[in-house]
This record gives sequence, structure tokens and C-alpha cells, in this order.
Amino acid sequence: MSPTYMTFDDLKKALEESGRGYNMENITKAYELANTAHADQKRRSGEPYISHPLNVAKLLVELGMDSESVEAGLLHDVVEDTAVDLPTIESKFGTGVMHLVDGVTKLTKMQFSSVEEQRAESIRKMLLAMSQDVRVMIIKLCDRLHNMRTGDAWPEQKRRDKALETMEVYAPIAHRLGISNIKEELEDRSLQFLDPVGYAEIRNLLDQKNGEEFLKNISAVIQKHLEENGIHDAHMKSRVKSVYGIYRKTYVQNRSFDEIYDIYAVRIILDTVAECYNALGVIHDMFHPIPNRFKDYISTPKPNMYQSLHTTVIGHEGIPFEVQIRTKEMDQMAEYGVAAHWKYKEGIQGKTPLEERLAWVRQLLESQRDSTDAGDLLRDIKSDLLPEEVFAFTPKGDVITLPAGANVIDFAYAIHSAVGNRMVGAKVNSHIVPIDHKVVTGEIIEIITGPADKGPSRDWLKMVATSQAKNKIRTWFKKERREENIQQGKEAFEREMRRNFINLPPEKVESFAAELARRNRMNSPEEMYAAIGYGGLQMSRVTAKMKEEYAKLQAAEPKPVTLEDVPVKRHHSSEGVIVEGIDNCPIKFAKCCSPLPGDEIIGFITRGFGVSIHKRDCTNVQASMKDPENAKRWVKASWEDSVQEQFNASLEITALNRDGLLGDITAAFSDMRVPIYAMNARQVENHKAVMNITFGTANTEHLNNVIARLRRIRDVISVVRN
Ligand code: MN
Repeated sequence: MSPTYMTFDDLKKALEESGRGYNMENITKAYELANTAHADQKRRSGEPYISHPLNVAKLLVELGMDSESVEAGLLHDVVEDTAVDLPTIESKFGTGVMHLVDGVTKLTKMQFSSVEEQRAESIRKMLLAMSQDVRVMIIKLCDRLHNMRTGDAWPEQKRRDKALETMEVYAPIAHRLGISNIKEELEDRSLQFLDPVGYAEIRNLLDQKNGEEFLKNISAVIQKHLEENGIHDAHMKSRVKSVYGIYRKTYVQNRSFDEIYDIYAVRIILDTVAECYNALGVIHDMFHPIPNRFKDYISTPKPNMYQSLHTTVIGHEGIPFEVQIRTKEMDQMAEYGVAAHWKYKEGIQGKTPLEERLAWVRQLLESQRDSTDAGDLLRDIKSDLLPEEVFAFTPKGDVITLPAGANVIDFAYAIHSAVGNRMVGAKVNSHIVPIDHKVVTGEIIEIITGPADKGPSRDWLKMVATSQAKNKIRTWFKKERREENIQQGKEAFEREMRRNFINLPPEKVESFAAELARRNRMNSPEEMYAAIGYGGLQMSRVTAKMKEEYAKLQAAEPKPVTLEDVPVKRHHSSEGVIVEGIDNCPIKFAKCCSPLPGDEIIGFITRGFGVSIHKRDCTNVQASMKDPENAKRWVKASWEDSVQEQFNASLEITALNRDGLLGDITAAFSDMRVPIYAMNARQVENHKAVMNITFGTANTEHLNNVIARLRRIRDVISVVRN
């Protein structure tokens, strides 16, 4: 295809030949508007300007794009170069066409030349993101292709700049969208400008080899064999590798011409995938396959949706060539990529909403999730279409890539930490914006900076979206504000202790903090406080260890003795009571139940007054044990075997009152040599008398003897301990 002086009749012919139902009325209207608007403009080559949009529109028809795209192709330069504005386009052609023209105009304003690879990648992504509707990019690619075809008329410098930009930005985008024809032509035409000598060298070699003739013959042989093996209706295509493709392998990968096995390729297009694999077998029977050259892109498609079987074989003339086998659908995808959607699936008038079109592309990308080598690229394409990233410019035109949701502070730190640290404000497209302004793709952002020692604000840590900015802010605080950080960190640390009810005497806090510092791999409490202060150490990471250390400290404190876990170790005491686990502590007997040797007893560790001994069934004991605080203080206790001391015991004697009763009772005590310490007697109803006697006894056995003796006294009804 060579640059042609084109007329609307030529375009109409192409539209008719496509055999598809284009909206001729609107396309004619678009042509007329463009023709009038560009009427007094000429291209550098001297042609009327309208021939350029006509050519772009024709390329779009050849790609199979829809009516709106063709209309927008005709109108793509009017907003930029003429008095026609977007509202006019919208009113005459609808919102769809207006958006396409607007998108292309925006892309046209972006100009890049000679960028390093990393920046080129951001630019490619940015342009795709800005396109939103993938048709915008396809129109832009056709625009660029026609400009490259007519680039001879450009001055030397412009030619070089455009060629570089095409090579670095637009050809890779065409590749990513899978539009291989446009990609290859863009590369070849760029190379022709960038390295005319290298281009000519390869071109000549290819011309000498007469590859077309070779391919024609071999195709016929293959088709005949396929027929013989029952594979009918094979559609044969062939291609000679692009000049740039060979250039890359010879110049960049330093291979000789003969080491390139895929200069010639025969393409076999079949109906079904099964036929594809059968045909592969036939090919391998016919020719000698070169080892390790078979690639199954049908089961594992390339990231740009390309599917095909590839194998390289050596023909009877000793010339290696590649055989590509695929179905019709795969072939359409290989040639037209994303554009195949309009060419083969949607029809010309297809008024599918933008979302639906994007959904279709997304679905295609999703379906390739399984392909293992596609990982990174796939993610890139996905983020192009479902923007997870935003792209903005510095006033100098550098592109800054940020995750969606990033704000101008992130932008400042993405430029340089010094810019971020000195930032006092920001302008977007020359207007001051709030400091948390979220970056939108395409914005030109100027960071306003203050004095060098200004420094970031701590609040920014909560505002920024990128870890890069966060780290840089922390680094600043770490370096510049050590004292302040220590202070802030110490306060936060102590606050956290209080929050967790960790109470330590002040003299213990230092060693407590030192232990925690060690566990967080810090050399000192100060270092830990500083890290907490500038945010390098999350408090949440300290808290768990803080609780652990406190629990350890608690465990080391003397613990209250419990009934269960005290080792059985008997100690004597002067009162004849053994309290387990406690050595020579003061013992006293509870007044409430006055236990006696032989009673089942239990000890209560008082707070500072030794152990008090109760009867096991004392009601106070039962009540006290229900209190968890006290329960721990009850300890096992028992009587020593030889208790010599006297104990006080109390008895209540009930008897029928008569003369001489009291005398009989006191006489009994006297007979048993039991001293009476206190006595109270009174008459109750029914001529009964009740006596309470407190006396000394040695042990329970002795007491029981006393009780038995008293019960034998005449008229005594009952004798009970109290
Ligand atoms: Mn143009």
C-alpha cells in the first residue's frame, strides 16, 4: 500500500466492496463537514488535507471498524486544526462519534520522542487508559499509519521524532491490541526512517531470495498433501517476515540471515481445532521438523490473544520455513486483534454501549487467565482497560504512573522524596488544589515547594495511597525528628500499656521496655520509641509482645497458694496445726467455729495476719470460697498427731429443769477433771433448762467422752457442740 491521493469516491468504493451495511448518510455528512473545514489546508506534500482523513477512514474500513469509527476517522483532525468544535460534532453525529473524536484529539496532543523503555511503557499504558474506548486507539493507530506512509515530506528532525515515537509507543500498542498488520507496517516504516541503511540491506536480501515464489510453490505442495490426508478446504496464506522482524534478529540478537528460521511462513487456515492438530501431523510427515521449534499457542495463547500452532520445518530445497496452523477465528484475531470484534462479530451498525464493548475485551482477557507465560503482560493489559493506574504529567512533560486513588502527595513523592518533603501545595492544570486531591489521568500537576527544611506532615501518612510515599515520609521523620519521635513513641507506648491494664512501678518500666525493644530487634528503648514515633514500628506489632512480657513478669511474682498446686510439704507450728506449703507462720483459730483437734480443718491465708484455721464445714468457709479472690487463699491444713494444748469447746445442754441439775452437771466436769471457763443457764418453756458451757479439752476424742458422760445425767435431753 502506497500513499495515495484519495477522494471520497475511493472511500465509497471501499465501503461498498466491504459488503457491509455502513451508514452512508452519516459517513457522507462527516466527509462533507471535514472537507469544508479543511478546505483551505494542504498537507506538506501538497495534497489537499482531506486526503489524510479519507485515508484514515479507508484503513478503518479495511480493519472492519464500524460506521461511528469511520465517521470519527474522517473528522479526527477537525477539532484540533479547524473551527469545528465538539458540540457541533455531537449535535450532527451523536455522542459516540463526539467521544471518539475527542479521544483522538487528546491523544494527538500528546507527543513523545526518544523515551527510555520504562517511560515508554507508562506512556503506552497512559494512552490506552486515556482512550477508554478501544476504538479511539484504533483510529489513532490508523492516523499514525497514514502519517508514517506519507512521512517522506517531513523535515528530517520531525521524521526521526515521529519514527521513534511510533516505534516506542504506537507499534507496541498495536501489538498489544493484536493488530499485527498495522504493527508490522508501523515498525517497518519507522525503521526506514531511523536506519535507512539497515532497512535497505535487509530489503535487498529479501528481494534477491525471491521468497514469494518459494512460498507459492510450497503452499501448493502442502495443500495437495492435506487433501490426500482427508483435510479439505484448507485455506493457504503465506508471508515473508517483516523487515523490522528480521532486523531485530540480525542486528539486535546478532544472528545471521541463515539462522533465522521464520523468514518465510506458510499459514494453513482450517475449520476446526482438531483439523489443526491433524494438519500438524501431516506437515511433520512431509518435512523434517527443526527440534524445539514447535509451539502450541492454541492451548496456551499469547497475551495479545494470538492463537496458532507453530512449527518450523526444512523444505526439500533446504530452506527452513515456519508453518502456522490455525482456525479462521484464530486467523482473524491474529490479523485484526481487538478490531476483529467489529469486523466479524458485531456488524457495522452495532450500537453496543461502551461498557459492553469493554466487557467483551475484558472477557477475552479473562479467558486467557490460564496461559502461564502471560502473567505480567496480561495484568498490564487488564489494567489498561480497567484502569488500576492513573497517569499524570509534571510541568516538564514527564509521565508519573500512580495507582488509582493516589493523590498529589503521592505524585510529589513519586517525582522525588525531596519534592515531597518540601511540598506545601499543588496546582492541577494551573489551579491550586487541596493537598489530598486525587490524581486523574492526563492532569498536569505542579508541586509547590517550601523551604528545604519544611518537612512533611505526620497526617500525610494517613492520606497517601502509595507505600513509596509512606516509606519516604517515615524515612524523613526517622532522620530529622529523632527527639520528637522518641517523645511521641514513648507516649504512645505508655498509652498502650495503660490501655492493656499493664501497671508497673516506674523503676520497672525501663527494663520492661528494654526487653520489648530487644524482641523487636531494636538496640534500646529509645530506638524502639523512635521507630514507633516515625511509624516504622507499628504499635499493633508491639502490643502482643507487650502482653506476653507482662504475663511473664506476673508469673515470676510470688503467687498466692492454691489448694491444688501447692506441693505437699508439711510444716509444724506451735499450735499443733500443719499448713501445707507454709513454713512457721503464725496460726490462729477462727472464733466463728472454734475448731478442735480432730475436726476437719482448713486454713485461710490472711492479708498479713498469718493463717486462720476454720472447721472445714464452717459456714463462713463455704461462703468465703465462693469469692474468687478469697478462694485462692484457702489452704489445706491438718492437725499434728500429738497435740498437747488445750482447746476451748462449747456445748449446749438441754434438760428438764429440776432441783440439783446444775450441781449434777458441774460435778460431772469435776469428776472428769475438765475445767469450766464459762457457763450460762436459763429456763425456757415447758420446764426445760438450757445451759451453755465453755470448757477446756485436749481433742475431739476427749470432747466426745465428755459429751457421752453428760448425756448419762438424768433428765438431760440433748448435748450438742456449738
Ligand atoms: Mn491525523
